[in-house]
Amino acid sequence: MVADAVAVAVVAATGRFSAFLSSCHSEGRCSRRFGTSARGISPRSRVTMENIQNYADKRQIASCVHCAGETESRDHVPSKVLLDEPYPMELPTVPACQSCNEGFSLDEEYVACLVECTLAGSVKSDDIQREKVRKILAAKPALAARLTKARLETLSGDVSFAIEPDRVQHVALKLARGHAAFELNEPQFNEPASVTILPLTLMNVEERTRFESSPASGIWPKVGIWPEVGSRAMQRIVTGEFWVIVQPKRYRYLTSVDDGVVIRMVLSEYLGCEVRWD
Ligand SMILES: [Zn+2]
Repeated sequence: MVADAVAVAVVAATGRFSAFLSSCHSEGRCSRRFGTSARGISPRSRVTMENIQNYADKRQIASCVHCAGETESRDHVPSKVLLDEPYPMELPTVPACQSCNEGFSLDEEYVACLVECTLAGSVKSDDIQREKVRKILAAKPALAARLTKARLETLSGDVSFAIEPDRVQHVALKLARGHAAFELNEPQFNEPASVTILPLTLMNVEERTRFESSPASGIWPKVGIWPEVGSRAMQRIVTGEFWVIVQPKRYRYLTSVDDGVVIRMVLSEYLGCEVRWD
């Protein structure tokens, strides 16, 4: 059963409906927010995917990064379902147990399809741009039916999707734990202090500027904590690059320990996620 809509909003653009997802927050600050555009703000520092070695103490990531259990496999972060083929070279992987590695798959498929359908304003194959999502929806009629049921359209033609916030948050947290281990060499097994999920287009200018800023921009609180020496994040600080673009227009992320452990991710240049551990 599709969960109640947490918040939805819609705009019509170039003859195609583009729907906005909602904001949900683990601190209970779920809110209905509607299309505040913050166009023109872009990340200040970027680097495409490259092979940066981790020279920090690898014993810290010797177990499953999600549950601290036995390492039985490698898990891609981000998951391949969030990327298009051909995949980038040097796709990050982290150790994971088999149970965790397989336990996120359905929710990751759901999020990939939800984001794409939301951008398209439709669940119909002809409207979906990502080939991978078209194939998933064709192969999984139950998921397609679930998203079709979640789609709302007003008499004026505004389209929106009711989201299942627990599933979106599950994926955001999984991705964040993977990035924390891979970039910072600091696995995060505790529950995070907050998880914020908000489309970029729904952020106001202040929120968007803060979200896109690097720890060196002066916008974040400065407490002088740097990543572990030898970690990938520390090496990026040396080069002044923070946002890691795994695949242009599809996935990027930023990691920092400057104000707690903060992981930010952007899916399809649409859905912004921030996971924070104090
Ligand atoms: Zn595990």
